[in-house]
This record gives sequence, C-alpha cells and structure tokens, in this order.
Amino acid sequence: MRERRPKVASAAIEEAPEPASENGLAAARDRRILHCDMDCFYAAVHMRDDPALRGKPVVIGGTPEGRGVVAAASYEVRAFGVRSAMPAARAKRLCPDAVFLRPDFGRYRSESAQIFEIFRQFSDLVQPVSIDEAYLDVSGVWRDYGSATELAKRLRARILEERGLTVSVGVGPNRLVAKIASDHDKPDGLTVVSPRRVGRFLAPLPARKLPGVGPVTARKLSSLGFETIGDLRKETRERLEQLLGGYGGVLYRYARGIDERPVRIDRVRKSLSSETTYARDLATEAEVRAEVARLADGVAASLEKRELSAGTVTVKVRYSDFETVTRSLTLSAPTSEASVLRSTALVLLARTDGGRRPVRLLGVGCSNFMHGSIEQLRLFSSGT
Ligand SMILES: [Mg+2]
Repeated sequence: MRERRPKVASAAIEEAPEPASENGLAAARDRRILHCDMDCFYAAVHMRDDPALRGKPVVIGGTPEGRGVVAAASYEVRAFGVRSAMPAARAKRLCPDAVFLRPDFGRYRSESAQIFEIFRQFSDLVQPVSIDEAYLDVSGVWRDYGSATELAKRLRARILEERGLTVSVGVGPNRLVAKIASDHDKPDGLTVVSPRRVGRFLAPLPARKLPGVGPVTARKLSSLGFETIGDLRKETRERLEQLLGGYGGVLYRYARGIDERPVRIDRVRKSLSSETTYARDLATEAEVRAEVARLADGVAASLEKRELSAGTVTVKVRYSDFETVTRSLTLSAPTSEASVLRSTALVLLARTDGGRRPVRLLGVGCSNFMHGSIEQLRLFSSGT
C-alpha cells in the first residue's frame, strides 16, 4: 500500500506546485531526491530494545580486553571522543563507563529489511547504499503530499512510530545535494534544500563535504586556497582539470550542485556464485581442492568489487553421475576476505565426496550479504 496523506493547503509553502508539463525543464524542476540515513543504526537498535541502555555510552564491536575495534558508537560515547574503527581498548580508556556490546548482524539485517519496506511505501525508486542508508527518488510522488518536505516529515514519523528509531533525511534536487543535506543536521534531522537554494546552501560548506574529496584531496585543495565549496565555484573548469585531472571536471559540476546520477533500483543482490563445469572429470583430491580455492578467490573478488560482505558460504559439487550436493556454513561475522572464504569453502568441500568420487562441476557461492563498512567488519571480526 502506498502511503497517502491528505493534502493540506499550508504544506505547500516552500514548494508551490507548478503545473505539470512535458517540458524537460519542468521535469528537472520537479526532481526531488531524498537521502535517508539512520542515526547511529547498530547502537540505536540495541538501545531501543533495552531501555536500560538509553542515554548510556554504548559501544558495539570487540571487547576492550581483546584486539577488537569499535564498529559503532552511540552519540553519548562519541562525546568522549570514541569513534568507529578505533581499538575497543582505547575506547575503554576514553570512556571507562562505556557499555560494550557484541554486534548482532541478524538483528540489524531484519531491522533494515523492515525500514526499507517503509521506504518503498514512499517511492518505487529506492536505491540502497548500505544497511541503513538509501536514496529515494520521489519526483513523481511528492506533489501527493503537498511538498517534498511534507513527504519527508511523514517518512521520518513512520520510522519513529513503527520502528522506534530516528532517521536523518536530506531533500534536494539530486543525490549530491540530498546526501550533503542529510548530514547537515544529524542526528534526527531534516534538511530541505529547494532547487533555488542549492547555491547558497553549498557555498559556505567545506570542500571535503563533496563526494570524492577525501583527506588527501582536501589538503591539496586547501594548499591551493580552496577551503569552501564557494571557493571552488570561483574557479574555471579548465583550471580545476589542470589541478586535479578528470576529477577536476566532476568537482566543477559538484561545486555548482549539478549531479545527474540517477537513483538506481539495485535490488540488493541475494547471492553470488562462481561455477565451472569441467571438460573432463576431476579425479584427485588435490585437483578438486585447487579448483575450489580458485572459485572462492573469484567470489571474494566479486564481493570486494561490489563492496559486500557475505555471512554464508556454499559449496556445490556435481559428481560424474550427475548427483549434486550442496553444503553451507554461516560465519560468525560477514566477510569479503579471500582467505576466510577459501578456508571455509575447503571445510565444506571436505563434507562431500569430492575428490573421492570424480567431479564434473564445482561451485562456490555466498549469500546473506551486508552492504558497506567492510573495513570495520573485517577489523573487528578478527579481534576478540
Ligand atoms: Mg547511518
């Protein structure tokens, strides 16, 4: 069921609806993108479910006694200087009263599925960015709410009412502006940048707010006298390209708030696998093991490329008589690391007759994905 809100005359102040038109310019004027980013997602889920944790400094990740790192930190503990990817032991020194909790990925995944269900009631065009972050293209539907602002308010209220969680939302004419806006008033914020306010909104912000400007580029820009996005706007495209190569041209457009990247409905992939049917049956255990290792490496490379981590590994073996078996294992923490995938696949292979019976097909697959923050996941899954 699509969310519908009765139209309220006073809701249309910021964006007075204009008559719809076939004209491309009108279509561009109507473009509204939301960037929705759950606030402190992992910690927020634990704090919602356990009232004793509310208002407390909460750290999700490894234990301070082990070598684990912080995967997520509540706003209360961030006030002590605790940050993601910091060793848990250091977090403990900064905030001795912090409560340390082990991550519970199954819980985050099912929570995420329910939140995305709500997102999809506001738009058919939902692009997941990570487990707790998405772009929504609401160009075709915001008028039903009177304004995009009103739509965003409804969405935030629904998430709070139904899931007991807060989400920061940025609204803009494109992904670039929406993304910067959602971060503008975090946590529990709503920042709406109407098309005509884009220039004024971006100009005073530091250049590092633009996508692709990491610490290295930011330092380089600063040494050239570019501190704010407004500074970048004063420069010609030629000069920026001279300084930064191809990215200079992108930056020239971003600094003007121009971004035509579409919101893509990449349905989150459910599984990924690599299979080979052999021209001649594999007869020795060494051959079969070497092939499984090779296939696992291929899967690891695909995960890396898609910035995914997998929680479950599956091995498929088809014997020469066409009998086919699969074996699966769910890991304690999702991974994209080749060595982990390879050793897991070999453990699974050992639970088959592959190598003792001739094999005509082998496959290694994985599923149960998590999007994003691969680095953090890898860091703390190797700790404690
Ligand atoms: Mg978030």
